[in-house]
Amino acid sequence: MELSSFGTFWQIYILVFTGIIGLIIGSFLNVVILRLLSGESIVFPGSKCPKCSHAIAWYDNIPVISYILLKGKCRNCDQSISIQYPLVEFTTALLFIATVFCFGIGLNLFFLLILISALIVITVTDLKEQVVFDIISMPLIPLGLVYNFFDIANTANSHVKFFALTFNDVFLTAFAGAILGALFFELFARLGLVLVGHRAFGGGDTIIAAALGAWFGWKMLIIVIVLSFALQLLIGIPIILLNMYKDKDFKSLIYMSLLLFSLIISVLGRIFGLTNHFTGALIILLISFGLAGVGVVGVLSRVKERKSYTLLPFGPALVFGGFVVLFFGQNVMNWFINNFHLMQG
Ligand SMILES: [Zn+2]
Repeated sequence: MELSSFGTFWQIYILVFTGIIGLIIGSFLNVVILRLLSGESIVFPGSKCPKCSHAIAWYDNIPVISYILLKGKCRNCDQSISIQYPLVEFTTALLFIATVFCFGIGLNLFFLLILISALIVITVTDLKEQVVFDIISMPLIPLGLVYNFFDIANTANSHVKFFALTFNDVFLTAFAGAILGALFFELFARLGLVLVGHRAFGGGDTIIAAALGAWFGWKMLIIVIVLSFALQLLIGIPIILLNMYKDKDFKSLIYMSLLLFSLIISVLGRIFGLTNHFTGALIILLISFGLAGVGVVGVLSRVKERKSYTLLPFGPALVFGGFVVLFFGQNVMNWFINNFHLMQG
């Protein structure tokens, strides 16, 4: 049922109510995160301060509000409480509200809220300690497949028959998505193993990608991958450059600048119209590919030599791509099709 089928008063009421549920679930997700990372049982009774282990009273455990009233400190030991707690609660509430707003109320909502909750836990554990817990990420694969098998989002328009079994389009797309996600990241990870002697991605990323494929299908998964790589480069390159500078690894910095030059040359070639005719395009292409090639090989061999690599968690970037696709999937797809003339038909 779409939200617009309710009157204005009820729409506001539903959104506020959803926000409160989101805060409570967010508070629970904090407990899950804390106990996964500390190895404690999730059903362990009662909340306690992570610093002094003092039991937290219910009135000091109200999402966001208690954090503000206590000025971010434990009432017992006065040590600061991580900003993670109100941030997770607030983010969960916002995402829950956005989901009800975009998808209305129905069985699909229930599935989507589970997906969102799991993705929040994955993001925080990956950012904090570079771990993605299989117990959180793995179940998302069958859950996504079930979601699409029964076509809970109601988007299927045709069915395909294999022997005596009938599958809907959406399910087949999702199945292909799960396989594509797993294969892509597993192959990429092993490429890192061959090139620099270290996996390029953790095993957790393979599972997250397979899960996102199972939920959104292979076409949307491609968009998730493109978006997550773009975000990772945007955040990662400055960090990697800074680390190289701190290590006084100037050779690596020179190789990195070759990559930048190759990009600048192709952009300049395009701006000045040099790529409009065949010879011009070929020359620009050869120069920028040459520079990029030397740069990539140089950086990789330095990494191998020095055994130093900046490890950045990739999970949060994938989750970011997943959320963009969840809320704006069709818009982003149309943008890609219009701008790159891709995937038509
Ligand atoms: Zn305390």
